[in-house]
Amino acid sequence: MAGIYQLDEAALAELLSDEPSYRVDQVIDGVYRQGVPVTELTNLPRALRQRLAETHPPDLNVAAESVGDGGDTVKWLWELHDGTRVETVLMTYPDRATVCVSTQAGCAMACSFCATGQAGFDRHLEVGEIVEQVARARQRAAPRRVSNVVFMGMGEPLANYDRTWAAVERLQGPMGISARHLTVSTVGVVPGIRRLATERLPVRLAVSLHAADDELRNELVPLNRRHPIEELLDACEEWTTRTRRRLSFEWAMIDGVNDRSHDARALAPLARRLRAHVNLIPLNPTPGYPVVGSSPKRVAGFADELRSMGVNATVRANRGTTIDAACGQLRAAQAVAPATANVAAPRRR
Ligand code: SAH
Repeated sequence: MAGIYQLDEAALAELLSDEPSYRVDQVIDGVYRQGVPVTELTNLPRALRQRLAETHPPDLNVAAESVGDGGDTVKWLWELHDGTRVETVLMTYPDRATVCVSTQAGCAMACSFCATGQAGFDRHLEVGEIVEQVARARQRAAPRRVSNVVFMGMGEPLANYDRTWAAVERLQGPMGISARHLTVSTVGVVPGIRRLATERLPVRLAVSLHAADDELRNELVPLNRRHPIEELLDACEEWTTRTRRRLSFEWAMIDGVNDRSHDARALAPLARRLRAHVNLIPLNPTPGYPVVGSSPKRVAGFADELRSMGVNATVRANRGTTIDAACGQLRAAQAVAPATANVAAPRRR
């Protein structure tokens, strides 16, 4: 039995074929546009509401919820029907909100510094399980609008391509979030990037580069052994040429590993060649990786070095560090807060 967000318009029409045809629009409008749970769709007859609630209960059950940054960051740990767990993070700003969604339970990419990678792969998420993360976060964000969705939670989106893309279409279509505000982040799955280059919707692409030479990148991002940097950059070039969109490189700043001047000098020509924006993320600590993040001073210095070489670079503000909701820290096994807790737990190292 799958949740209501597993159903696209055609599937809903089939499910409601014994009802007047306008019911499909009512359900789409309520569930997708307004983000209301089925049980609260008061314009539907009660019997229908109950039927939908019974046949399509939520996919995501709250296992834990934690709140940080003075209420501006919320992290959910969801339990899925088979007991697997994934996380979603909502970041609110004065006038809007961004949701960071998971596309897989766990991840097979095994990036050394990433908590999800350290824990291994469970399974792909279904379309409905991805879309419902946004719907649930949107209910919480109201009255602020969820303007942006980043596919930067647990998992590798392009290793679960079909379902991720179906989720993109549903977020852009019935949910009404502009494709330009949807960001797919990849560790460098080359066939997936080439396929993205052929898609109709203008989503953003972020590539987790982290190293500008193969030796270091092989260590940080094991997938690099299969798709080395030059092959990755070729695919990126195809994407930028075909979509005419600007790419961004993610760079987790790791003390003494990839934050030295010669790293900036190696990165700059690659970024210039693709006219890519570089997003510097101070490394967040994870239990399985002993090296620490670069100091704020070093991060700023690295950004300045890049800029002086003609590269557009920004430092990503760090959200959710005290609730293990920061980039790369999502890890189901560690979430201990009970579902009712509303306080930030201290960071566990
Ligand atoms: N698999 C995809 C999306 C999920 S990770 C990808 O790799 O792009 C989202 C981003 O967080 C990636 O850039 C990833 O490298 C980064 N990240 C992972 N662990 C991190 C950590 N401990 N500190 C900072 N960033 C991290």
